[in-house]
Amino acid sequence: MTIWNLGSINVDNFYSVPRIPGPGETIASTELSMGLGGKGANMSVAAARAGAHVAHIGAVGSDGVWARDRLTEFGVDTRHIGVLTGATGHANIMRDTEGENTIVLYPGANAKISTDMIGAAISGAETGDFLLFQNETGEQGFAAETGRKLGMRVAYAVAPYVPGRLRALVPFLDLLILNAVEARQLQDELGVLAGELGIENVFVTHGADGCDWITQGETRRFPAHPAIPVDTTGAGDTFTGYLLAGLDRGHPVEEAIDLASRAAALMVARHGTADVIPDLREVLAL
Ligand code: ATP
Repeated sequence: MTIWNLGSINVDNFYSVPRIPGPGETIASTELSMGLGGKGANMSVAAARAGAHVAHIGAVGSDGVWARDRLTEFGVDTRHIGVLTGATGHANIMRDTEGENTIVLYPGANAKISTDMIGAAISGAETGDFLLFQNETGEQGFAAETGRKLGMRVAYAVAPYVPGRLRALVPFLDLLILNAVEARQLQDELGVLAGELGIENVFVTHGADGCDWITQGETRRFPAHPAIPVDTTGAGDTFTGYLLAGLDRGHPVEEAIDLASRAAALMVARHGTADVIPDLREVLAL
């Protein structure tokens, strides 16, 4: 089967600075590094590294063709990534010596993905394929409704939480994946718990405390795998990509969670995002 991922692709620019500058201040960066990022791209890489066939639906500008090519190198099917006019989405991240950071995010091409692009891509999907999306692109409603009509299993990773978006999507969702902060935001907005929305499978991640799987009104907690965390960026995305890849292979949910937790534990012990997501061999060896 295929995991179709409507997702963001960002160029992450990391600037090391002695301290975060104040308003009106200019300071020199001591180091610059650039990498593939964006929640969508991270999830595609994670699922592909877990051995799934992943087709990414997305967009870059002409300055981001290298990011699309990087996804191809990771084994992601990139035929449905458009090269559009304008800039690729990017994140300019300033990191100081204390580990504090400030991020400016520009959605760029991620905000220009059209319903035509999505429709053209998933018209090739088969019944039972996964459709995954997050909140760093638009057109989730169209994707979810079309995916459901095509008999796909629709999965929504509610990251980052965008108020006003979830309720209309609920009827089309088979899976909901969110972290504890997003779960609280959901509860504040909708007045119910994530597990009370009537979605068949809900996964709430709790960092080092593991994750909850909520199904048919029952909540089960699964512990995290032990790790010495150095950088938790991308842990949630890695968890989601591996979880879907495990389910796509037909693993029972408990086994898919175990695989995802192992992969995420390896991820928190590494600096970086898409480029350092572990592959299946490393995850199974843990
Ligand atoms: P991100 O930092 O990428 O935004 P998130 O907030 O979406 O992550 P978390 O709930 O922090 O997601 O973590 C997702 C999963 O990663 C957890 O369920 C757990 O399996 C694993 N994980 C996160 N932090 C740790 C940790 N300190 N030790 C071991 N595993 C961890």
